[in-house]
Amino acid sequence: MTITFNREFQPRYGEVVTLSPLIRRVVAKNPNPFTFTGTGVYLIGRGDVAVIDPGPTLDNHLDAVLGALDEGEQITKILVTHTHSDHTAGVPKLKARTQAPTYGFGPHGPVPDHDPLEQVSFDEYLTKDEKAEFQKEWDELPDELRREGPDQDFFPDVLVKDRDLITGGTADSRFTLEVVHTPGHTSNHVCFALEEEKVLFTGDHVMGWATSVISPPDGDLFDYLNSLRKLLGRDDETYWPTHGPAITNPHPYVQGFLDHRLSRERQIVEALSAGPATIKDLVPAMYAETDKRLWRAAANSVFSHLLSLLREGRAEPEDGDPSLVATWSLVDR
Ligand SMILES: [Zn+2]
Repeated sequence: MTITFNREFQPRYGEVVTLSPLIRRVVAKNPNPFTFTGTGVYLIGRGDVAVIDPGPTLDNHLDAVLGALDEGEQITKILVTHTHSDHTAGVPKLKARTQAPTYGFGPHGPVPDHDPLEQVSFDEYLTKDEKAEFQKEWDELPDELRREGPDQDFFPDVLVKDRDLITGGTADSRFTLEVVHTPGHTSNHVCFALEEEKVLFTGDHVMGWATSVISPPDGDLFDYLNSLRKLLGRDDETYWPTHGPAITNPHPYVQGFLDHRLSRERQIVEALSAGPATIKDLVPAMYAETDKRLWRAAANSVFSHLLSLLREGRAEPEDGDPSLVATWSLVDR
């Protein structure tokens, strides 16, 4: 099954939108290649309100989040799906302005000193003109847009784990959010399920406009696939991701993501069955139809597949270390 993305989404930045009796949203004006049209910040409940992912640290954005509250309401909990800066950079300021404690699965996992992708180049596949053009684009790209930035400063006040319940609201309108641990995009990623409305806030785990970026070592494809399967075992009716529009009838959509990744895995296994290969060999063949600008990101994706195959004992690096530059082969069984 192919996935049909929905990119029909034009937020009105800084305006509060009421999505349901218990859900309001403000979208931050931080659109870029990773955030699509920007970070959607959800306010849950009435009276005693929880915020899911404060978003960037822009003052006018945080003003808009606080401005979304009605008279007598206050933000009493700041929930975090995962530690990427487009979700958490605004936490310290929002916390200072509300005194609300933060809730999350844990701090960000270890981050390598250098981006391992720097070792991988597809220059020999580019024409001279393409090379010059791509280099210019890359040089002009602001640092924070080169990859989704891990936020290593965040540490939750309240550590949450799978199936924990977080409640709030007013006496006659309570809300209950269940924590659903969904590692993969990051190791500490969680979704929050709003029990009263059968809604799942999916963060960056399942999005309507694109697939999740899986960047090893903290991102893990094996975990990601299991976290997709976990959602198939639940009966949430609507997903609200951080970026882009809602996903209704979510199960076929989640199955589409699983099918997509498994077909990529089959391609890799097929290629390796012809003989050992490097990621540099695999990407141009597997992504021949894809814009060459995305090949480096594709290298990360192929790497995450190889690590997943390694974990299952189906593939291994020939010279010991599993890396982006290793030569990989299938394990004889
Ligand atoms: Zn993210």
